[in-house]
Amino acid sequence: LSLQSRFYSSQDSIAKFTGQKDAQGRYTVSLIEGDGIGPEISAAVKDIFAAAKTPIVWEPINVDPVLKDGKTTIPDAAIESIKKNKVALKGPLATPIGKGHVSLNLTLRRTFNLFANLRPCRSVAGCKTPYDNVDTVLIRENTEGEYSGIEHVVVDGVVQSIKLITREASERVLRFAFQHARAIGRKKVRVVHKATIMKMSDGLFLDVGRRVAQEFPDIEFDAELLDNTCLKMVTDPVPYNDKVLVMPNLYGDILSDMCAGLIGGLGLTPSGNIGDECSIFEAVHGSAPDIAGKNLANPTALLLSSMMMLRHMGLNEYADRIEKAAFDTLAEGKHLTGDLGGKATTTEYAQAIIAKL
Ligand code: NAD
Repeated sequence: LSLQSRFYSSQDSIAKFTGQKDAQGRYTVSLIEGDGIGPEISAAVKDIFAAAKTPIVWEPINVDPVLKDGKTTIPDAAIESIKKNKVALKGPLATPIGKGHVSLNLTLRRTFNLFANLRPCRSVAGCKTPYDNVDTVLIRENTEGEYSGIEHVVVDGVVQSIKLITREASERVLRFAFQHARAIGRKKVRVVHKATIMKMSDGLFLDVGRRVAQEFPDIEFDAELLDNTCLKMVTDPVPYNDKVLVMPNLYGDILSDMCAGLIGGLGLTPSGNIGDECSIFEAVHGSAPDIAGKNLANPTALLLSSMMMLRHMGLNEYADRIEKAAFDTLAEGKHLTGDLGGKATTTEYAQAIIAKL
C-alpha cells in the first residue's frame, strides 16, 4: 500500500475487519441512508459503487428510534445487521435539540463501542481555500468525555453535566492513535487537551498518553493545549501534516470541523467510527435540512467515507480508482456542487465521476 492510499485507511489497526465474503466473493454492508440529504448522497455513492463494480451488496437498515426498558435504542434488526456485516455506511441522522430522544449517532457509537473517531482532512485540488496544503489526521475519543450524556438539574437554574474520562477508554483510543500513526507512516502523535484547567479529567487522558507512548518507541509523543492548537492551525496548518492528533470527545468534534473549514467545508470531510467488532463510516456533516430533497448536496464526504470503508475492508484497488475519479472531477471543476461554487446537481456530479472510472 502506498502511503497516499493509506491516508483514509484504518487498516493495520487494532480494529481489524473480520467480515465474511459470500460465495460470489462479495461483502454485505449495512447501509443507513439517513435523514435530510442522506438518501440523495447515499444514492450517489450507490450509483458510483455499481459503476465501479465494487463487490459490495448493500443491506439497507432502519434505525428509527425505539424505546426499550425506558431507554432509546435502535431496532434489533439494525443491530443484528451491523453485528453480522461488521461494517456500515451511514448517512447523517438529525438529532433533536435540547429534548426528545437521545442522539441516534451517540446510541450507535455506544451500542457498538465505536471508541475511535478517525477524521482525516486533506486539501482537494480545485477547491479554493485559504490553504492548499492541509493534510491533518485527527482522532477523537468517541464514547465518553463531555458526551457521556450524564446531565441533571441540581436546583432550579443550575444544571450539572458530567465530563467522564476513564483510563480504559483513554488507553484504547490512544493506542489506536499510535497504531494508526504507524499504519499511515507518521512519526508523531500529539495529545490535544486542556489539562491546565481540567486537571483531573484531561490530566488522566494526558497521563495515559504518556504511558501508552512508551509502547511505541518509534513514534514521538507530545501534547498541546487546545486553544493553542486552534490558533496555530488556522495560522499555518502545515506543521500538523506530519502528526496524528488525538483528543477527548468534544475537542475532537469541534477541532475537526475547523479542519474541515481549512479544506473547503463539510462537503469534503469523511470519518470512520472504529470499534473492535464493527466500524461505521460516515460524513462529518449533518442532514443539511436547508438543501434536502433539492438534488444540491455534495456527496463527496460520504463517498470519501466509503473509500475509508473499502480500505478498512482491504478493497484498496476499488477505493483508489473511485477516489481518483472523484478527485479528478473536483480538480477539473466543471461539475462542482453549489457548496464548492459550482452549479452541478448531486446526480450530475456523480455522473461526472462515473464517466471517469
Ligand atoms: P449540517 O452539517 O447538516 O449543515 C451545516 C451547513 O452545511 C448547512 O448550510 C448545509 O447545507 C451545509 N452542508 C452540510 N453538508 C453538506 C453537503 N454534503 N453538501 C452541501 N452542503 C452541505 O449541520 P446542522 O445544520 O447543524 O445539522 C443538521 C442536523 O444534522 C441536526 O439535526 C444535527 O444534529 C444533525 N447532525 C448529524 C450528524 C451525523 O449524523 N453524524 C452530524 C452533524 C449534525
